[in-house]
Order: sequence, then structure tokens, then C-alpha cells
Amino acid sequence: MHKLENDLELKKNAAVPEEELRAGREAASRLRERLCGRGLSYFIETYGCQMNEHDSEKLAGMLQSCGLAKAETKIGADVILFNTCCVREHAEKRLMGNVGALKKLKDEKPGLLVCVCGCMAQQKDVADKLYRRFPFVDLIFGTHELHLFPQLLEQAMEGRRLARVRELDGEIAEGLPVSRNNGVSQFVTIMYGCDNFCSYCIVPYVRGRERSREPERILAEIRALAKDGVKEITLLGQNVNSYQGDGGVDFPELLRRTGKIEGIARIRFMTSHPKDLSPRLIEAMASLPKVCPHIHLPVQSGSDRVLCLMNRRYTRADYLALAAALRAAVPGIEITTDFIVGFPGETEEDFLDSLRLAREAGFSAAYTFKYSKRSGTRAAGMEEQIPEQVKKDRLKRLNDAVAEGLRAGNEKYVGRTGEVLVEGCDRRNAAMAFGKLPSFKMVYFPGGESLIGRTVRVNITKTSVNSLIGELADQKG
Ligand code: SF4
Repeated sequence: MHKLENDLELKKNAAVPEEELRAGREAASRLRERLCGRGLSYFIETYGCQMNEHDSEKLAGMLQSCGLAKAETKIGADVILFNTCCVREHAEKRLMGNVGALKKLKDEKPGLLVCVCGCMAQQKDVADKLYRRFPFVDLIFGTHELHLFPQLLEQAMEGRRLARVRELDGEIAEGLPVSRNNGVSQFVTIMYGCDNFCSYCIVPYVRGRERSREPERILAEIRALAKDGVKEITLLGQNVNSYQGDGGVDFPELLRRTGKIEGIARIRFMTSHPKDLSPRLIEAMASLPKVCPHIHLPVQSGSDRVLCLMNRRYTRADYLALAAALRAAVPGIEITTDFIVGFPGETEEDFLDSLRLAREAGFSAAYTFKYSKRSGTRAAGMEEQIPEQVKKDRLKRLNDAVAEGLRAGNEKYVGRTGEVLVEGCDRRNAAMAFGKLPSFKMVYFPGGESLIGRTVRVNITKTSVNSLIGELADQKG
């Protein structure tokens, strides 16, 4: 795999050839005709990050263009699709268990099609393993073949069992149908892949090199969303800070252009690599009123030695300086982060550096993980892998520190009034509406469906574990 790391000849920002996209549309149209009136349905189970969630919206869009409707449960579905993640071993194990559990359903319902796609399926050895271990899985395809799904589905429906993994770096497929899950807040992918090769991370190997979408295509997509009533967009990429669109449009410039789109009230983005967080981006966050005062800035470790082993290319001091610059430029900004504990060679002292950072940096949330060995990455070959029990113990201590910080951080909102963009009503209690403050804090308050899509002022009265509770002050927008 390390060959890819040094291979800088791969073409940037290349588009999927139009013939391939046309072939997909034609396959969808043939399937729609063939399946017309049969009332077939699909169920997608998604693992992993927001990029995967958004890919699943595209897969759902393609399935709908083929004439299938969404099923509420796996049991009722005629096509079950697992969109997988390979960043951590845990997700892989869960996927294997959940696919295995479908054998009984497939025996009872032989017409059922079982498909596996996404990052796990993009690894050739894993795709082969899935193919051999689960003979009842009909179709396996990788991340670079997402746009080929209608053709692959058509072949699978004709009885061909397929495992397709393109070894090429992915190209950008534009114009795929999307079935969106939320009418108020939407994801828009601005770039794919990652060039950073953090030593623990499998993403560059399965998602390929960085490719940025053309700015005009991104802006056209956001304009269309705004026309449909979407109020908030989240610009997505593995490392949005290194977005480099045609015509010299970098990420701060893309934010500036997005900020001019009428109807879009809030702009968020995810994820940012600290080494690429430029003063220009901080300035854009400070000066563009629609850009929300929140940033997800993964730190991963508080120890310089571990950061170096991780190939993160910043120090603890660099990170803290960035956090201070962000806080100085954007008053009230909330910073969320990721930590990995138990990285190979992490000593107790290194871990204490992370613990201290978690206590001192004032994160409003931190997503914490035990290091997970990913075959083919540099860290997987490092000596001094940390015993599982030590990782567990460190994770617990870190989580306790994070929870303490979260509680204190949430408390400071009590007694304040904030603007909440209402996204929906609680599934278990329809009388409770929910939405986020600009700072990304989730707020629940008594309110009904009529508020969805509106920005309302909410008095924050108390906190719960991960969110705030309030009551409506008045309404606007
Ligand atoms: S920045 Fe590092 S952790 Fe994030 S996707 Fe790229 S390689 Fe993985």
C-alpha cells in the first residue's frame, strides 16, 4: 500500500466519463420499466462518517430511480445494502455479524438481494473474504464504483453474483440522484479522498487521493437545495481545508461564494485538518456571518511524540495556538475534536498529555476512540502495540474527563437565549422539537412540526447529557 503514498502522478479532479454516467441512467431506466408495479423496496444500513451517510443518500437516490421504494425494516425489503466503514475494527466486526445474520432471511426469501459496498468493500482482500465467506451476498462493490450501482444492480437482478473493486483512484461522479434524509440541513460533498496519510488511517487507501469538485457545480447544487427550502448546509470532505477547486478557488473562497447564496442561513463544514487551517480560513469564519461558530478540529493526541508518530504534522503547541486564534477571531466559537488513545508506543506520560489537553482546551465535545490496527497502514507495522486492557482503561479515563468538560460547557448556556434552526421532532416524543444553535449545540424544547425549517429563539433552561433543554421565547424567520 505504501506505493500509493508516494505516487504523485495520479490525476486530480478528473470527472467520471459521461458515457459511464449515461450507462447508469439507462440501466436505471430499464430496471424501472422492468420492476414497474412490483412494489419492490430497499433498506440501507450505513456505517461510519458523514461522507458515508451522504453516499447512502446517493445510493437511495439511485435505488429510487430504479423504481424501488424505501422500506422501514430489513425484513420488509427486497434489496438490502450495507454501506460499510473500515476506519475501525469494531465497525468491520459489526458488519460481518449483521451480514451473517441475513442468511436465514435469504433462505426464507430467495429473491432477496444482499449487497455490500463502501470503504470495507473497496479493500480487495476484504471484498474477496466477504465473497467467499457469505455465498448468499449477491453484490459487492467499492467506493470508486458507486456511480455504477444501477448497472451492477441490474446484473445482480439477472442472477449474476458480482464482486467489483476498481483499483484505480476514484474520479468524481456528478449529477447522481440523491434521496435526502433531512429537508432543513443537508450535506454537500466538496471533495473526496485524502493525501495526508496519517499513519493509523486507512482512508487514503480506500477513498483515494484528494479530488475537489468544481466550485460552480457545488454552488449550483447548493442553490438548488436552497430553492427546495434547505436552510443549512454542511460542506463535507475528509480534509476540507485543502479544497482546491478549478480557477484557484480555495476553501475560504468557496465559503465566501456559498455565503452569497440566498436562502441558505447557515454554513458548516467538516472535517478540518489542523495543519491546513490557514489564517485566511479563520478570517473567513470571522467575517462571513452565515458561517457557524463551530469547528471540528481533530487533535488525536496531546503528546508531541505521538503526534509525530501519527504523522499529523503539527505539535500540541501549534494546535493550542490555532484554538486560541479561532477563539480570538470568532467569539463564542465551539471547538469539537477527536482523540485516539493507545496508539502504538503511547506511554502513560503521553496519555497524560492527552488527558491534560482534554481538560485544558475547552472542547465542547470530543469523540474518543481506542487505536484500531488497520492492515496496510504504517502504524499497523509499528512495534509496541498497546494491550487492549490498557487502551480500554485510558479510554475510560479520557471519557470521564471529556464528560466533565461537556457538562461544564453545557452549563454555561443555561439562562441564555439562542437561535435554534428547527430540524424535526423527537421520534419518541412528537411534542418535543429539536434543532441546533449556531455553535452546534443540540437543543430540545416543547414545539410541534409546524416549526420545522424555522429559526426560533429558545431560552435554555437546563442541560441533559449531550444536549440542552429549553422553551420557546418567540418565533422568527
Ligand atoms: S486527515 Fe488523516 S485521519 Fe483524516 S482522513 Fe486523512 S489520513 Fe485519515
